[in-house]
Amino acid sequence: MKWYQLDVDHIEERLGVTSNKGLTEKQVEERQKQYGYNVLDEQKHTSRWLIFLKQFQDFMVIVLLAATLIAGLLGEFVDAIAIMLIVLVNGFIGYFQEQKAEKSLDKLKELSAPLAHVLRDNKWERVSSREVVIGDIVKIDSGDRIPADIRIIKSTSMETEESALTGESLPVMKHATAIVKENLDAQDQVNMGFMGTLVTRGSGVGVVVGTGMNTVMGQIASLMVNTKKTITPLERKLAELGKILIVVALLLTALVVVLGVLQGNPMYEMFLAGVSLAVAAIPEGLPAIVTVALSLGVQRMIKKKAIVRKLSAVETLGCASVICSDKTGTMTENQMTVKEIYLNGKHLYVTGDGYDIRGDFFINKTKVEQNHPNLGSMLLYGMLCNNAILQSKKGKYSIDGDPTDGALLVAARKLGFTDADKGTFRIIKEIPFDSDRKRMSVIVEDENQMRFIITKGAPDVLLPRSTFWLDGNNKALIKTADRSRIDAAINTMASKALRTIAIGIRSLSKNESLEASFLEQDLTFIGLYGMIDPPRKEVKLAIEECRQAGIKTVMITGDHVNTARAIAKNLNLLPENGLVIEGHQLNQMSLADLEEIIEDTYVFARVTPEHKLKIVKAFQDKGHIVAMTGDGVNDAPAIKASDIGISMGISGTDVTKEASSLVLMDDNFATIKEAIHEGRNIYENIRKFIRYLLASNVGEILVMLFAMLLALPLPLIPVQILWVNLVTDGLPAMALGLDKSESDVMKRAPRNPREGIFARGLGYKIISRGILIGLVTLIAFMLTYQNNPDNLIYAQTVAFTTLVMAQLIHVFDCRSDHSVFSRNPFENMYLILAVISSLLLLLVVIYWPPMQPVFHTTALSLRDWMFIGALSAIPTVLFGFKK
Ligand code: ADP
Ligand code: MG
Repeated sequence: MKWYQLDVDHIEERLGVTSNKGLTEKQVEERQKQYGYNVLDEQKHTSRWLIFLKQFQDFMVIVLLAATLIAGLLGEFVDAIAIMLIVLVNGFIGYFQEQKAEKSLDKLKELSAPLAHVLRDNKWERVSSREVVIGDIVKIDSGDRIPADIRIIKSTSMETEESALTGESLPVMKHATAIVKENLDAQDQVNMGFMGTLVTRGSGVGVVVGTGMNTVMGQIASLMVNTKKTITPLERKLAELGKILIVVALLLTALVVVLGVLQGNPMYEMFLAGVSLAVAAIPEGLPAIVTVALSLGVQRMIKKKAIVRKLSAVETLGCASVICSDKTGTMTENQMTVKEIYLNGKHLYVTGDGYDIRGDFFINKTKVEQNHPNLGSMLLYGMLCNNAILQSKKGKYSIDGDPTDGALLVAARKLGFTDADKGTFRIIKEIPFDSDRKRMSVIVEDENQMRFIITKGAPDVLLPRSTFWLDGNNKALIKTADRSRIDAAINTMASKALRTIAIGIRSLSKNESLEASFLEQDLTFIGLYGMIDPPRKEVKLAIEECRQAGIKTVMITGDHVNTARAIAKNLNLLPENGLVIEGHQLNQMSLADLEEIIEDTYVFARVTPEHKLKIVKAFQDKGHIVAMTGDGVNDAPAIKASDIGISMGISGTDVTKEASSLVLMDDNFATIKEAIHEGRNIYENIRKFIRYLLASNVGEILVMLFAMLLALPLPLIPVQILWVNLVTDGLPAMALGLDKSESDVMKRAPRNPREGIFARGLGYKIISRGILIGLVTLIAFMLTYQNNPDNLIYAQTVAFTTLVMAQLIHVFDCRSDHSVFSRNPFENMYLILAVISSLLLLLVVIYWPPMQPVFHTTALSLRDWMFIGALSAIPTVLFGFKK
């Protein structure tokens, strides 16, 4: 017998689990040991050797190695070995960088791995999907990916999309009853849910019957899409730039070589010098360092609870000019508490905070009796038309499920209701809540087999479906005057920032059709719940900081317009003459109409997920870079269409997570601001080391070129050039990539996404500083050589030291767009360390006798150092004061 043919009882027996308690922790542990993790075999990583070898595949490095070999054959052993060593060390560094980048990307993958909602030891909890075992009871909601193969034991209008398995893109309706037929294909097993397929509607509970490679998906694992590493726009831009730079560097190098040979330098020497210069001057490592900087930045973001799913988002984040954020759960705590009830035409007030079950009901300061008319039934209906579970752990209460539903459970508890009170009622059918319908219903049968429907939802959705209400305890027709009274009640509640929910019922005759579209009408309106959802305390400041950073924050919510407005005011998000637009107004507007007013709009209320797409488009047409948050299934299209799609780590569905490029681990709006801050900083850091590296390279090429033009001997020899490339260029550049942000990054306007790498004066800075670095090095060489014409090694040592020193001083200038003195150098200890190690290595090369023949150096005197110090400070000091 296959799983789909078995009854739930048989399955429970076979798998050793009871479906209302779940497995015990001990069972889970044993099964994990026995069957392993619930994962598909992953593709292998690129082998370490290959990554290492890749570091040497660069064309110029190969030429250099060949040239070195020739030098070695010609008897220049020391030079050859030194060059080889430097190339090797360079390779190692590249290798470690790449490893590090890969590791942090792996960690990202781990963090964004999907979660499963399981019942264990009688308690619902969320665990990583890989920890799911056979026999686990799992709950799945619309938008989730099913974590393993399950036999469905409860389905609430659940539909799944199984095209990954069957190629069929139409949703399949799932139910829980056993099927007798034999040899059914996967697509006909409609009481099974398959790993990796998507729940598109409704919800359900299932028992896990297959995990990991023992799933239908596991059998066709080869069909799984490969996770390809994508190149970010910046990396692409840099790669293109790199090609241009290679050509320029090669041309200049060729010029140096030709000039050198014409001036009478030996051919072989010039060739080796040229190749070394080319290796040093070509920033072939740039894309790699950028990747490292990006992935290190991504790690910093993880610490701030933002998970980047697409590396390119890091760059785009810095350009964001509008954040469209959900209100509920992102700007607010998503911890709902019923504070007010409107019943029998009167307002009742409820005490107590959060999900704490202590609290009482009051009318005008007098406590309400337990038997207050209709209060008991209203709260009971709220418990029945509900999907949440109230759980307690050590006396602390929490909610599993929708917080809105949870608040109703807590309210009922305050009047003394417990789960036992639901026992006499049987739920026959549920029409689930979604943000489009803004309501939910259940059909209930009581102990006398009397059926009725309970509907709860947004008051403006429910009232038009109601014919009667309870006017002072009695059921009466809703007259126009009554309607205005109820509307007034809704408005008072909403203006106090309360989220309002209406609840109503209707008796059903025994043989009435359960077709959803006819059910939710002719209701008797029972009352209103008003619940508070306090704003997260960090959000107000975050919105203000975004404003200073030139980023507009827009609130989007399905809530009542007054609730939204009250909270927006509270958060200082809505300026005096800012607009609040409602969903029904959006329906009547064309895209062009919306674009007219969108710059002045700050709040969208009573919207459905479809509206979000229109909002994104309108902002984008206005030239904005839009960040858009979302959690539900229907949010996915808007998230995809936005420039930065943001999903919720806790309350988000798998579909939205997959569509998003950023996941907020804590669902918190303030985290978006942190991510933007980090995104801007990463981009600035990349600009910093590009500036440093290229200015250094310009200096290196120019000193050689100038010398050849002036018919001087080589101011730097090949090993020295390579050493500079490895030590002085490499270490500080990495440290710049780790730099802290300048104090004003969040005070600038967002970056224009079309701006080039050299925008905002970077190109000028590179060229001007580069020329100066080249010039001072040349001057140091010339003066020393003139005074000591027969000690070339001495002059070369001075030139080498000047070049290194000029760069090490200049690196501090690269940290700021402003004056070099605007920043405290000790903020970046990595940089201090990098500079000190470069200096120490320089001293070793100059003063340690065994190194002197290798690097063709000689010891320098204090006078030399003063001379060098003065010259090498010039490029930085000259520009350093300029703002
Ligand atoms: P948001 O996520 O922006 O708060 P929703 O779409 O979740 O907006 O909710 C819109 C409205 O639907 C709420 O104001 C409330 O009246 C109603 N509502 C929300 N959750 C539920 C629920 N679980 N059951 C019934 N109605 C609900
Ligand atoms: Mg919601």
